[in-house]
Amino acid sequence: MKIGVPMEIKRNENRVAITPAGVMMLSQAGHDVYIESGAGVGSNISDEDYKKAGAVIVHTAEEIWAQELIVKVKEPQPQEFQFFRKDQMIFTYLHLAAEPEVAEALIENQTIGIAYETIQKENDTLPLLTPMSEIAGRMSVQAGLRFLEKIHGGKGVLASGVPGVEPANVVIIGGGIVGTNAAKMAIGLGANVTILDINIERLRELEDLFPGKIRTIASNEFNIAQEVEKADLLIGAVLIPGAKAPKLVTEEMVKTMEDGSVVVDVAVDQGGSIETIDRITTHEEPVYVKHGVNHYAVANIPGAVSTTATYALTNVTAPYVLKLANQGLQELIKKDKVFARGMNTYRGKIVHEAVAEGLDKRY
Ligand code: NAD
Repeated sequence: MKIGVPMEIKRNENRVAITPAGVMMLSQAGHDVYIESGAGVGSNISDEDYKKAGAVIVHTAEEIWAQELIVKVKEPQPQEFQFFRKDQMIFTYLHLAAEPEVAEALIENQTIGIAYETIQKENDTLPLLTPMSEIAGRMSVQAGLRFLEKIHGGKGVLASGVPGVEPANVVIIGGGIVGTNAAKMAIGLGANVTILDINIERLRELEDLFPGKIRTIASNEFNIAQEVEKADLLIGAVLIPGAKAPKLVTEEMVKTMEDGSVVVDVAVDQGGSIETIDRITTHEEPVYVKHGVNHYAVANIPGAVSTTATYALTNVTAPYVLKLANQGLQELIKKDKVFARGMNTYRGKIVHEAVAEGLDKRY
């Protein structure tokens, strides 16, 4: 199969959809991989690295988009719609419910859209989203602690403390993938770590995972208010699948935090779980101050560590790209139910129930 990997053109997107390892795997299986010159630069991968692995470097988007299978990171941008063709396959994060114009362009051109984010295992987990949650969770602590430093407007607290001085209190609401990864980082740095979740079974697992290293508290309004007041760094990491994040931390609660404390709302991409997070921030200006508290509300946290994010993403996408190239779409959909859930558009129709509902389209 002929596979094209374009340079990502969405603002601030520095990831790339394939690494030299992926190119090598596909070339050895007899496929042709075309990469747009410079596509890997944001992830520290040169054209030369790709060439050595067996890729053909091309210099225009047209040449990339002429291929049968396009592998990308972000949803296609309006400038790319002109390249859509009937029966061409695009494998990428699509988020069609939030991007109706992309859905329209795919439908109109009868282009096949396969979305990373709807590939779903039997146990309902989303294997192509997991690595980004792992990164966001780990980064939430790294970024949050930076804004606890005095020079960055924080209260000037060291995560670990030192002998004779208390460590920082890190409070994490939501003990899923983001929350667990945030906890790992915060524990590693020697902070006092508290995790709240409504799922007591999950808290039980976390206690087994980090025995003696965390406090686990049932998530309810009363307990949240008590923990927020004590937090130096508060991390919002909740998710209710398919719904907007619940507002768990009220403005009144934020007002009880000491000046120079930090809130990081990782769930900001789902509307945010902290009432005083009233806007999305960017990596250029990640923080604003409200009630004396630093608010970090970046919606694409993995973008800050694009090299790590590229390798983490392609570790999980490359095996699917290889299977798709080897078996072809029809064969793979029949055999692989997990992959089949990634199908979003086919022959001019939305073919994923939840995506169709989100777009208010007929399924
Ligand atoms: P997850 O499903 O693994 O975990 C969510 C956890 O929240 C679950 O343990 C659940 O029980 C818990 N929860 C639900 N309601 C709660 C409540 N009322 N109180 C306490 N806990 C509650 O999800 P995840 O992968 O960890 O993702 C968490 C959030 O991070 C999502 O909103 C996701 O979209 C977001 N995210 C953001 C970025 C970013 O760059 N900003 C990157 C990745 C993920």
